[in-house]
Amino acid sequence: MKILVINSGSSSIKFQFFDLDTEEVLCKGLLERIGQDEGIFNYTKKDEEKIVKNIPIEDHKDGLELVLEAITDNEHGVINSINEIDAVGHRIVHGGDRITDSVILNEESLKICEECSVLAPLHNPPNLMGVYALKELLDEKIPHVGVFDTAFHATMPEESFIYPLPYAMYTEHGIRRFGFHGTSHKYVAMKAAEHLGIPFEKFSGITVHLGNGSSITAVRDGKSVDTSLGYGTMCGVPMGTRAGDFDPAIILYMIEKLGLDAKDINGTIYKASGLLGLSGISSDYRDVESAAREGHGRAQIAIDVLTHSIGKYILALSANLDKIDAVVFTAGIGENSASLRKLVCNKLKVLGVKLDETENLKRGVTTVISSVDSGVRIMTVPTNEELMIALETKRLTKKSVS
Ligand code: AMP
Repeated sequence: MKILVINSGSSSIKFQFFDLDTEEVLCKGLLERIGQDEGIFNYTKKDEEKIVKNIPIEDHKDGLELVLEAITDNEHGVINSINEIDAVGHRIVHGGDRITDSVILNEESLKICEECSVLAPLHNPPNLMGVYALKELLDEKIPHVGVFDTAFHATMPEESFIYPLPYAMYTEHGIRRFGFHGTSHKYVAMKAAEHLGIPFEKFSGITVHLGNGSSITAVRDGKSVDTSLGYGTMCGVPMGTRAGDFDPAIILYMIEKLGLDAKDINGTIYKASGLLGLSGISSDYRDVESAAREGHGRAQIAIDVLTHSIGKYILALSANLDKIDAVVFTAGIGENSASLRKLVCNKLKVLGVKLDETENLKRGVTTVISSVDSGVRIMTVPTNEELMIALETKRLTKKSVS
């Protein structure tokens, strides 16, 4: 079964084309600077060199036409005709509280996705542009599936998703925790369970997604029961440029004493905080880590605040669980920084955590990095949101194409 996975942003589109019989990526690519004078099209066929073309890309439809031409190209393509595409999986950020699983994208579900744009104004509209453009370009028999960042968290119980604000904020305004990165949390939890030989529906643990955006999730019996991100993508642990948790009284101070308006505050807490705001150097963990190693005081403070917060969240979210099969690190920082994992595990001594220092140095593999006598198992699992989207697309469309 051949599945095209699309992640459509406002000025870029990422794609991967899978043969799900073998789970291999046949080709993948990235379109950038859509709508600008000079667009960039990156295309890589399995086992071949990357091809980079500078070409104007007028809009999303124009860009996706280039993708379809590339995958059916005589020389570098991987199929002869676009009708060999069995289904398309689309990443969609927000499904609100009405979309609680991946869905076939039809008139009814697309209407709900449109309505959820108010909850994710920077993400849902460009995600949907990709859907509409491909629906126009492909035969109408080819199914399109939406896979949502919020859906895995739909199983959270009320005590996890309702904020202790006046109840009408929830009932009348729909303000509640939604959670994000659900596709990644579900994928790494599934892979951890598979690695440990535990059926997914019996797996419980904490998944720690640490990238430019970060969130930590408690998974009980294969379901998300609590997570650190909330209504928007601001709370929880500090991120590249986002603050994560801080006392909302500070927002009142910014308004009343500093005279900042909503736009200024948005810029401060979303774009100028987190690793960047603390270190004053960069939002990129690699830069902060190397500056700290050279003795840069504020870079060290950024790492201290981050690792303290991650440790605190892992312990707090554990309150949702009866057992921890594994604490699973993933995404750019979680998969790659052995030193960050060590610092976080030092915060988990109360759980009797002990690292296997050699195993902790491995990168890009699914492995247990704690020692055999550790009180709780610690793992790394490389995330693969595109593969998860492809697997979800297969699950939803299996019946209609077989
Ligand atoms: P992501 O959003 O998952 O792509 O993750 C991006 C983050 O991962 C950035 O902060 C990078 O600095 C960080 N990252 C990527 N590679 C490494 C590495 N080798 N060591 C430490 N951090 C890394």
